[in-house]
Parts: sequence; structure tokens; C-alpha cells
Amino acid sequence: MPLSGLDIFKLLPKTNCRECGVPTCMAFAMKLAQKKAELSECPYASEEAKAALGAASKPPIRLVKIGVGARSLEVGNETVMFRHEKTFFHQTGIALELKTSEGKEKLLSKIKEIESYAVERVGEKLEAEAFFVSDDSGDKEAFLNAIQMVKEHSSKAVILNSTDGDRLKAALEFLKSDRPAIFLHGEITDGDLDLAKTYGAVLILSGSSFDNLKDQVERAEKAGIEDLILNLEAPNLGRQLENNTILRRSALKKNVASFGYPLFAYIKAESELDLLAKASMDICKYSSVIVLPGYDSAMLYTLFTLRQNIYTDPQKPIQVEPKLYAIGDPKPESPVFLTTNFSLTYFLVSGEIENSGTSAHLVVCDCEGQSVLTAWAAGKFVGETIAKFIKEIGLEEKVKTRKLIIPGFVSQISGDLEEKLPGWEVLVGCQEASDIPAFVKSVSLT
Ligand code: SF4
Repeated sequence: MPLSGLDIFKLLPKTNCRECGVPTCMAFAMKLAQKKAELSECPYASEEAKAALGAASKPPIRLVKIGVGARSLEVGNETVMFRHEKTFFHQTGIALELKTSEGKEKLLSKIKEIESYAVERVGEKLEAEAFFVSDDSGDKEAFLNAIQMVKEHSSKAVILNSTDGDRLKAALEFLKSDRPAIFLHGEITDGDLDLAKTYGAVLILSGSSFDNLKDQVERAEKAGIEDLILNLEAPNLGRQLENNTILRRSALKKNVASFGYPLFAYIKAESELDLLAKASMDICKYSSVIVLPGYDSAMLYTLFTLRQNIYTDPQKPIQVEPKLYAIGDPKPESPVFLTTNFSLTYFLVSGEIENSGTSAHLVVCDCEGQSVLTAWAAGKFVGETIAKFIKEIGLEEKVKTRKLIIPGFVSQISGDLEEKLPGWEVLVGCQEASDIPAFVKSVSLT
């Protein structure tokens, strides 16, 4: 029977010292009850508390960190099967493969290209998080060179892929304080366990069946190693989907602790489209780390966008601060546009105003991050609330123009808005942000 927040609170020190990162012991107890924190985050937890909380304080899927510092890759800690039940917490890490057989020059330019490839979408920076370094040439020097280049030119996490213990040891020695992961091909060995212990590395276990994977996890746990990621081999995409679903369900719903670890997938594909389809499935259905053997920027952008959508909290749309924004260098006479504070809407509208070459004021109303039509349907983007917001931000003191351009999708609020904002003329703008440049040219805005 899981412990309630109150049961857990009774076992905590109750000093509210905040060292666990939350303001009170009660708040920490609630996080523990929801499996969003680990008891080890409270440095003052008594032995009695540790024993009593035991499994109750353990998240059903362990949080595993590859790498160190701000750009480390954190995966796991998920608590639901479907994002709409709550949210997914740690997005799938995307790792790009570097093969030593590609040669030094090509690898260096690839590392630099991947390192610098990042896109900004709705205010978030999207990029790949890790390199998967494959020792496919079997050349120790080439393997170490590749790792050295990654270390010199990137701060992304590193996953080592070699079947040779000696080469792995040399690589781990080189990456001593970088907390890499090791991808194991076959059955886990004592040598692997020693390496993981000595160098604090994460182990990616590869199992040929559920039982085989479980045995390997138990062996690692017995040796005191819990930073594990699971790779259950599958002959095709359908089976992998089934495996991932069973593993996630076993961890969350059946309390199978051995499967309570993030999942891994190395994606083998016959074409770019095949790769994209498989990677998309893995992002949607439970892989926490995926390795792409090849890439191009269009594919990465597609996967980044999908991943961002899946891992955004469905109950908290990404939003921007509600306020008056200056687009370009607006003067008091410049036009005034109106929209909601849904991040995607804001970035589309502000981007298209910029594209139009016009400087303008953009009033972004507080609609709890909803898009224009959703906010209107919910009664949050109507004459009364907009007029109230415009008064609050002091728009009338900041601009001389008295024309307000509203989104074309809510033309029905124009009369009401003019009533609530005496002295203002409301212009109904275009429906799609992409039509703003043409709209700006077609009407007198000031
Ligand atoms: Fe309470 Fe421990 Fe958190 Fe301090 S660190 S507030 S004692 S739970």
C-alpha cells in the first residue's frame, strides 16, 4: 500500500530547512508521495525514515543522468502511461552516432556541425543531447581520438559503444569526470560492472528477452549499480512498440521494479523516411534515449518539434508573459496588434509582423496560454477582459494611435470591444499569421 503525503511527512525532520529544493517538509512529502522526488534529496532523513519509506520513496522509473553540468542528459522519472494523465517529465534524449571508420576529418566536421545545430521554437532551444561513439573500426587510437574530439568541441553527453573491455577502459579513463554511458551488446559481465563502479558510468543493458533483461538488471542492482538504461532487442518496429509498452506498464502499473528504468533504442533503418518513422514512434512511445545512425537538419527539426509537442505539459501550454511587446522600433503612432499569450501564437504573430517590415506594438493578453479561438470559446478573449487588460498595461498612455487590429478569427468581438474601449476603432485583421505582411500593405493601420 503506497504511503500518503501525510504518512511520509510524519517521518521527515519537519525543520523546513529547504535543502531539498522545496520550501517545507510537507511539500517535499507530497513530492515523494507523487514519486517526483527521492528521499536521498533530504540530507537529514533518519535511518528510520529510510527504512519505512523504502519503495514508497522510489520513483517507479528511475531518473538517470548521463554527462555532467548544465548540458547533461536526464532521462526517466516518468509516472504515467499517457501524457494527458499528467505529463511526461524528461524528454527523449537524441544521440547522433559517430563511427570511428568515418575518419578523423569527417568526424570532426560532423561533431562541429551537430554541436552548432540548434533551433529556437516557441522560445525554447531545441538540439540533440548526446553523441554515440561507435568503435566500428576496432582501432583503439581512432576510438580515443573520436572521444577526444567530442570532449574538445562539445559539451554534449557521451555514450560509448565498443565490445572491447580494454578500449572501453581507456575511453573511460579519458572521460573520468564526465559520467558517460556504456552501451553493452551482450550479457553483462563482471568486467562491465567493475568499469561502471570505478568510473561512475551509466550502463545500457541489452536483453534478448524480458527474463534475460530482468536477470541482468538484478545482477547490476546486486552489485550496487542502479544507473541503468534498458535496451530490449526487437526484430521489428511493431515488436519494439509492444516491448516498450509492456516495460513501461510493468514498471508503473505492476510494480516490477526491475523494469523501472528508462528505455533505449538504437534505430536501424533502411531509408531516411524509415528512420524518421521509427524515431517518431520511439519518441511517442517510451524510449528515453534514441540513437540516430544518420541525420539531416530537416529530419532533426521534425523530431525536435514532435518531441517538444509530446513533452509539453498538456495542462500548462507554453506561454509568454502577458504584456505590451515592441516589435521592431515602434513609435507612439505605430499600429497596435492584439493576440493571446499562447507561445506558438505569439511567436508566429510577432515573426510575421517583423516579416512585414512594419514596426508595431503587440498587446499580448493573459489567456492562460490558450490560442485565439480556444481562449475566445472559454470566454477569456472577449471585449471585457481585453479592455480591462489594455487599461491595466496603460496602452492609452503609451500610444497615440487608436486603431486596434484583432485576429480575424474573432471578428465577432469587434463590436463589443469598441463598446468597452470608447475612442478606439477595432480593425479585423487576417485569420492566419502568415497573411499579416499582405494585410499590412492592404489597409491604413494608423
Ligand atoms: Fe524538510 Fe529534509 Fe527538505 Fe529540509 S531537506 S525541508 S528537513 S525534507
